[in-house]
Amino acid sequence: MTKHETIGRDTSVALTATPSNYQNFIDGNFVASSGATIEVTNPADGTLLGLIPNSDADTVASAVKAARRAQPAWEKLPAIERATHLRAISAKVREHRRDLAEILVREQGKIASLAQIEVDFTADYIDYMAEWARRLEGEVLSSDRADETILLLRKPIGVVAGILPWNFPFFLIARKLAPALITGNTIVIKPSEETPINAFAFAQLVAETDLPAGVFNLIGGRGTTAGEALVTNPGIDLISFTGSVATGSHIMQAAGRNLTRVNLELGGKAPAIVLADADLDLAAKAIYDSRVINTGQVCNCAERVYVEESVHDALVARLKPLFEATRYGDPSKEADLHMGPLVNKAGLDKVAAAVERAKAEGATIVTGGAIADRASGFHYQPTLITGARADMDIMRRETFGPVLPIQKVKDLDEAIALSNDSDYGLTSSIFTSNLNSAIKASRELKFGETYINREHFEAMQGFHAGRRKSGIGGADGKHGLYEFTETQMVYIRT
Ligand code: NAD
Repeated sequence: MTKHETIGRDTSVALTATPSNYQNFIDGNFVASSGATIEVTNPADGTLLGLIPNSDADTVASAVKAARRAQPAWEKLPAIERATHLRAISAKVREHRRDLAEILVREQGKIASLAQIEVDFTADYIDYMAEWARRLEGEVLSSDRADETILLLRKPIGVVAGILPWNFPFFLIARKLAPALITGNTIVIKPSEETPINAFAFAQLVAETDLPAGVFNLIGGRGTTAGEALVTNPGIDLISFTGSVATGSHIMQAAGRNLTRVNLELGGKAPAIVLADADLDLAAKAIYDSRVINTGQVCNCAERVYVEESVHDALVARLKPLFEATRYGDPSKEADLHMGPLVNKAGLDKVAAAVERAKAEGATIVTGGAIADRASGFHYQPTLITGARADMDIMRRETFGPVLPIQKVKDLDEAIALSNDSDYGLTSSIFTSNLNSAIKASRELKFGETYINREHFEAMQGFHAGRRKSGIGGADGKHGLYEFTETQMVYIRT
């Protein structure tokens, strides 16, 4: 079989029956690298899907140089022409939407329907950012002098390093690339070593457009090697990182060396508050959906519940059958699943250890509570826990798996206080039919997002930004776009 002979479909990006050796995309070319490689496997059955380069510091430096060379001409292009390039990329994504979704299913273990949503949303997101071409604005300020006009210009920052996690790997390419490019920056992207193949497929699609060489570069590699080389390279002007708090903290320190700007989208431990006057069917379904989506591996989804005592049992009675009816398995072989496997063995072990700790600390397992008995794959049983307390790790640390702990509270004030008493501050939600309670919660919850009577999930026109250890800066919408710009004041005396 040749490289592009595919399983099922004949396109340039589909996974091949014989695992491909993917190449970095630097300065408009796929570049062979002689060094070490990383094996990418399917978390559902362990099959080898492909090999990517573990790029060394010289390779990373060549990608940064290419991005620097390309940036001045890219910035000079009218934004509307940059938008045309972005739209050519989103059109390619749409054309190959099924193959791209299949890659996500196979390398991340995502269920097919969610993988397709991720790919389609990515194309929409690129188009949304392209729409900003005619809306990028500066300001005209009034001067203290009679003969002066003051302008605030917004300029690109230069070269962006985009470092991606594995949980929504394809969408995260767009979340970094689209706002960076429309504002006149160029970019070097390093995908997660767990899920890089979708990014190499994306590079293949970009290569089929006439995007100028060097505007988008992709390098494979581990965080500790390629990632480290990228964030410490003095040619990088902004590090836009999405991942764990530990890595974000490390990157911020490394960025200190060159005083490189950082934009950090980190972990979460989102609270969901359920009051006695809530529509409990709606609350249970929204919280359940939010907990099993992507097998619980989502930064912004409900990770802990605070429920008023009087409706605790009624809420649990609604959640239990939902958890028990969860269908999970290998999404590349089974249709109509709620969940796939966790992304790797370390993820599975982390979830299992978190539940064991909760048990030892006195929590009650209502359903689930163990590694699933399956022939292959990193599957954990959908797990509902009651009797959780504020001092338990399960209520404080990010679990990143299909596990939902519930704690009783006496009232809204206690729920808000417990919610805010967290290292994390990404998203939060409240379920209530009382407008005053909803408004009080949105006023007092110290989180970047608060959802009222709905599941946690942000819109592309919003601003996704975490407080406390959940991050610095944010993404999406106008405010996310301007994170990729810096200002220049111009004082004009006439
Ligand atoms: P991670 O921190 O382990 O890795 C993220 C990326 O950082 C990977 O590409 C990795 O190779 C790279 N990296 C690791 N060490 C590095 C170093 N020293 N220098 C440079 N790069 C380095 O995170 P993950 O496990 O891939 O992702 C899961 C985490 O991401 C969770 O905590 C989740 O909450 C968070 N997340 C946050 C958001 C958000 O919008 N706030 C979105 C998605 C995921």
